[in-house]
Amino acid sequence: MSGQYKAPKGTHDILPPEARAWQRLETIVRSVMDRFGYEEIRTPIFEETTLFARSVGETTDIVKKEMYTFTDKKGRSLTLRPEGTAPAVRAFVEHHLGRGARLTKLFYVGPMFRYERPQAGRFRQFHQFGAEAIGSADPEIDVDVIALFVRVLEETGIAGLSVALNSVGDANCRPLHVAAIREALASHKDALCPDCKERLERNPLRILDCKVPACRGLAARIPPATDFLCDACRAHHAAVEAGLAALGVVFRLDKNLVRGIDYYTRTAFEIHHGALGAQNALGGGGRYDGLVAELGGAPTPGIGFAAGMERILTVLGEAPARPRGVVAVLPLGAAEEAAARRLLYELRRVAPAEIVAGDAGLGKKLRAANEMGARFAVILGEDEVRAGRPLLKDMETGEQTPMSEPEIIARVAAVAPPPTKESS
Ligand code: AMP
Repeated sequence: MSGQYKAPKGTHDILPPEARAWQRLETIVRSVMDRFGYEEIRTPIFEETTLFARSVGETTDIVKKEMYTFTDKKGRSLTLRPEGTAPAVRAFVEHHLGRGARLTKLFYVGPMFRYERPQAGRFRQFHQFGAEAIGSADPEIDVDVIALFVRVLEETGIAGLSVALNSVGDANCRPLHVAAIREALASHKDALCPDCKERLERNPLRILDCKVPACRGLAARIPPATDFLCDACRAHHAAVEAGLAALGVVFRLDKNLVRGIDYYTRTAFEIHHGALGAQNALGGGGRYDGLVAELGGAPTPGIGFAAGMERILTVLGEAPARPRGVVAVLPLGAAEEAAARRLLYELRRVAPAEIVAGDAGLGKKLRAANEMGARFAVILGEDEVRAGRPLLKDMETGEQTPMSEPEIIARVAAVAPPPTKESS
C-alpha cells in the first residue's frame, strides 16, 4: 500500500542503494578538490532574494521564473538558492576571505532549487558541486579550473566527455557583439520565440542559448562573440586554449556557447556527455570578473563552475554493489549470545559485523553468514567461550582457527576497509 504522501513534484528521495553512488561521487569530489587546493564552503540554503536578482541577472530564466521565493514572518523576501556561485561570492565579500590571499579557492556540494518543468535531467531540487577561484585574472587559473572539473569527472570513471570552450568578451568588447546581434536580428524579430523577442530588447546574448529551433536557425547567422573580442580578451582566450592543450585536455571551440547567467565575462565552458540526450550538459562555468564588485566587494576577478550531480550519476548508471559484510558472529546457543554480542560490539570498531543468533544449527547459521557476504565467521560454542578462544572461520578458504579475541579483531582489521573510508 503506498501512502497518501509523495515527494513533491520535481524532487526525489535518494534511497540506500543510490545513496552509495552519491557517497562515492562526493568522496571523489572532496578528494580531487583537496588535491587541487580547494576548501569547502557551506552557505545557507536560502539567501536574500536580491542577491540572486543582482548577480544571476533580472532577465535570466532563473530569476524571472524559476526561483522559490517566499516572505518570512518579518516580511523579508528570501529565496532557496538556485545556484552556488552568488552565495559563495557573497560569503567571500562578507567574511573578507580574500584579505592577504592572492587566490581564494572554494568548493561546495549541495542541493539547489529551481522551479522548472520536471523532465529527464531536470528537477526542482537537484544537487551540484562546484568550485570558485577568486582573486586572479590569469588565464592559467581558467585552465586550472577547467582541468579540475575534467579530473573529477575522469576519476568517477566517465568516458566520452566533450569540453566546449568559448569567450564571451568583457565590458569593453561585449557591447559591440550585442549591437551586432541586434542589427542582425532586427528584421527577423517576428520569427523569434516570445522569450527571444524580449531578450532582443533586454539581453540579446542569450538568444544564442535558446533551444527553440527557429531561434537556433537565426542564431546560426549571428556573428559569434569571438569576432568582436578586444585585444586583451583575445589574448586571454588564446592563453586558455594553449594552457589546456599543454595539459592534454581535449576541448572544442563552440562559438555559440553563452551561459544562462549574466555575470560571465571572457571564458565560458561546458562539459557534455552524449548519453544524456537533450539535457546533455554535465556542468559548466566561466569567468565572472565583475561579480565580486557587483556584490559590494573590491573589484576582484574570479572563475568557477558547477556540475549537476544527478546527471553525472545518470551517466555512471548502476550504483556500486553493497560492500560485502565482513564478519558474521555465530553464537551456537542462547548461553553464548551475551559473549557474542560483546565481541560483535568490539568487532564493529574495525569492520561491518552482524550477528546470527537464534536456535538454528551451525550449518544454517553458516549459510546465513555466506548469504550476507561475510568474509569471516566467528563461531562461539560453550568450549570456545570458556577458553576465551572463539573459532575464526575464513569463509573463502574454509580454514578454522581458535584465536583470542584481540587476535580475531586484528585479523579482521587487516582485511577490512578502514571504517571511515568509503569503499567504491
Ligand atoms: P547551471 O548552474 O544552470 O549552469 O547548471 C550547471 C549544471 O547543473 C547543469 O549543466 C546541469 O548538469 C545541472 N542542472 C542545472 N539545472 C538543473 C536541474 N533543474 N535539474 C538537474 N540538474 C540541473
